[in-house]
This record gives sequence, structure tokens and C-alpha cells, in this order.
Amino acid sequence: MDAPDDSTDVTVDSDAPGTASTHETGTGRVTIRTTHPGGNGRVLEVAGDVIRLEPEIRDSTRRWFYWNVDVESDVSQVLEVRFPTDEVVGPRGPAVRTGVPCGSPTADGAWSEWRWLGADRRLDANAFRYAFDAGERAQLSLSFPYQRADFDAFALEFASDPRVSVETLTTTHGGREVPVVRLGTESGTELDGSAGDIVLAARHHACESIGSYVLEGTLRELLEGETGPALLERYRVYVYPFVDLDGVERGDPGKHRAPHDHNRDYVDSNAIAHLSPIYPTTAAIAGDLESLENLVVALDLHSPYKWGGDVNDRPFFVTDPDDPGDPLRTLASALESATTRRASDGPTLSFDAAPGTGLASFDGQSGLLHTFTRYCWLEGATLSSALEIPYVGTEDDPVTPSSARRLGRDLAVALLEWVDSGN
Ligand SMILES: [Zn+2]
Repeated sequence: MDAPDDSTDVTVDSDAPGTASTHETGTGRVTIRTTHPGGNGRVLEVAGDVIRLEPEIRDSTRRWFYWNVDVESDVSQVLEVRFPTDEVVGPRGPAVRTGVPCGSPTADGAWSEWRWLGADRRLDANAFRYAFDAGERAQLSLSFPYQRADFDAFALEFASDPRVSVETLTTTHGGREVPVVRLGTESGTELDGSAGDIVLAARHHACESIGSYVLEGTLRELLEGETGPALLERYRVYVYPFVDLDGVERGDPGKHRAPHDHNRDYVDSNAIAHLSPIYPTTAAIAGDLESLENLVVALDLHSPYKWGGDVNDRPFFVTDPDDPGDPLRTLASALESATTRRASDGPTLSFDAAPGTGLASFDGQSGLLHTFTRYCWLEGATLSSALEIPYVGTEDDPVTPSSARRLGRDLAVALLEWVDSGN
């Protein structure tokens, strides 16, 4: 759809597809931007006090639901944000964070913590209301975004830790440097007599941001938890935190990209066809995996469909629930016990290892697709699985940044239990 007449659209640069536009409302003006990292949302119309938006699909071949907009109001006013054709406002309303005033216009980077706006502000699955203060700037999104800058801030905490090295794996088509994190002992990642290699990946699908919070929790537990560091004494851990970094920063959904997305790009040649990856990052990861001496565990963090249905509100490992195999069954029960025995100091995200709940399949998911986890099987991993973490969660087990990080810590504890169990 064309930009509305009263807006001034600015495209910032070729690899950042965001726009900014200012509109008259019933009582003042509102500026709507998608120029920030992760920004996504097309303004259809601003009429009176109603902003009409739709998620941008970018190069996905199916309609998807990710959106993330930055809205600034010059006056105190209540605005309705409505998605006329998409049910993309979840049970707790959108995620929100606000610019923190510090005596001057809000600077990028000075933001409150992300939180759910709340079910009481949700009108229905298509709309919510937000009460702006004069001069307030709010970022609103389907769920909790997580960008490269968030990871850099996290990694900075461990910049002087000799067990951590953050290297550049490759450069994307968009010119972004892709990080790989290598964890090992005090003397570096080269272990004499190491029991093997563990790899963790996230953001094969750009918009699936909750896995990034889980990954932070796992790394924090490995580096400074009560039990996690023992794993690093015996295993090397390699982490690919942003497989589709361009998509993450541009705000693409990244799922079902044309001609295929990053998690269908681990192609291998056979006698009939010579195939090569189309994304530099997946090619570099495949090469990295081939160089590992003893790949034991590979876990890939994803999020399922937006919410609702049979499997979209609880974390689960993607597998045949009737035949997950002993290694995955053992890890699932270790994760269940880690999530249930901890002391709770706030909302938590528990894991239920029951077949059909924590061990579940997607309709139509084929084991023959060129996925990261299949590639890791072919490289000889004892356990290779995708862990799906919901965007919203349930009433009893809500997804928040802190509950997702907590699940990540539990995953590290479960991994240690798994290696000690003999699988
Ligand atoms: Zn995914």
C-alpha cells in the first residue's frame, strides 16, 4: 500500500528498510518509526486516534506475524493501534518499552526494560490502546525483541573472562560481522582430553527472539552458575547467537524466506546435484561444524507459531513424541526436573517432558529438510534437537525476558546432568 498523504517517509539505507512518518491525530501528532534495529510495521493509515498497521512480510513466502514499531507522541493522548487484517496482539497485549527521559530528548539506548503492556489494554487480537504522556516514546512489538546490541551488552560483562572468546565467523550479504562465541577453560578453548563439543545456535529464523534470552541464561549459568562451570571443565561450547543476523537487524520475519530460509540452507552435495548454501553464515557454520573433533550435542533455539493451538504455548523439543530416542528423553526429563526443583523468585517458565507437551512435533516437519539439526546428526552428534520456546507462554508459565533467561539457566543445568547420566 502507498504511504498515506500526510506522512513523510524516509528510507534510511539500503540494508535498513525502516521508515519514519509523522501524522496528525485527533489531539496532536504522532511519529511512527521502523528505523531502529528490528523495526517492522507498515503504516496503512492514521485517522483520528487510530493507527492502522500491518506486519511487513519482506521476502517471506507466507504471511507471518512479526512487528516492532517505535511510536512517539508530542502530546498526552490515548491512541488505538489496530492491525485490520492480522491477529497479532497476543493474550497479554504487546511487549513494550519506553524511552527513559534524562533531561534531554530521548537518546537511542536509554530504554526501560521490556514488559507486557497487559491484557487490560488489549481490545482484541487485532488491537490495543496505549496512553502516551506528552513527549513519550514507546517501542511496541509482538513479543520481546533481542538485537545484536543486546548481545554485545551481555558479552561485555565477560570481556575479561579468559574462558570466553567472541570472534567474527563471517560477514553477511548486508555487510554485518557475524559473531561466534567459544567457551572453554581458563587456559582457552583447547582442552586436553576434552569429552567433546557442544554447539548452541539461535535465530535461524530472525524474528524468533525468545531463544536469544534463553541463550543468555544458558551462557550465564555455564560461566557463573553453581553447577554450570563444571561443564566447561570438560566440554568445549561453541555458540552461534545470530544465524540470520541481517534479518534480525533489519526486522525481517526470516521464516519461509524465498527461495529458502537459513534453516533450510544446510545443503549437501550428492551424486545427482551439487548444492551450495546461499547464505554466507550457514556456509561458515557448516565449515565450523566440520572442523569439530567430537560433536556431542547440538541445540537450536526457535519459537513456534505465535500462540494457541496444541504446541505453541509451552516449550518443547521437536521430535517424534512416540520415539524421541533415549538421549533426548534423558535431556527432557533433566530439564523438567531442573525447572521444577528451583526456588521461584518470580514468574518462571517450566518444562513438561511428557510426550505431546515437551516432546512434540510440528505438522508436516520432515526429517529430510536441510536443517541445522539434521546437519549436526550427519556430523555425528549424539543429540541434536531444536528447542521451541513460545512467544507468550501461559498464565502459569508466562514468557518474559527473565523467565526465558531462567529457562536457559535450567537448560545448562540439564546439559550437565545429561553428560553425567551416560545419556
Ligand atoms: Zn524457527
